[in-house]
Amino acid sequence: MSNRCPSCEKFVSLEAGDPEEQSTQIDGDDISVSVRVHLDCVDCSEEMKEITFDLSEPLPQEVIEHRTAHEEVGEEEEITVSYDSAEVNDLYRPRTPPKPRKDGTIPRVPFRFQTHYYIVTVTVDLGCTCGKTDFESVELTGEEAASAFDELN
Ligand SMILES: [Zn+2]
Ligand SMILES: [Zn+2]
Repeated sequence: MSNRCPSCEKFVSLEAGDPEEQSTQIDGDDISVSVRVHLDCVDCSEEMKEITFDLSEPLPQEVIEHRTAHEEVGEEEEITVSYDSAEVNDLYRPRTPPKPRKDGTIPRVPFRFQTHYYIVTVTVDLGCTCGKTDFESVELTGEEAASAFDELN
């Protein structure tokens, strides 16, 4: 895959920059995070492609139970969520999984039959307005094919 950078006017490789948080919230029993991932020119860091991941994950059971315990005694405490960190990884995966050979080994799939994916993992911290903060962190993950990214130039 070749990408021509409008800034340094060369064909360059792209690398994922730091994901940018768009929003982090609790919707009912779910955590929702929107995060923008951009791919940048490795030479000059010009942003060349972007996509927004809308991720969602159910609230952990311990958090739901904690909230319910407040509700049962009429306390108006709320669960809070905050964006902690995010990372992007990429991988190539065959479009169709290769069939194992008779001896059980898996044949290598030629590059041109593989799809390039970007995977984002966001970690959020949960708390409660009563002061409790020791809930376990939650990871939200999403993936998109590189071809699904929008061109910025
Ligand atoms: Zn460039
Ligand atoms: Zn609480």
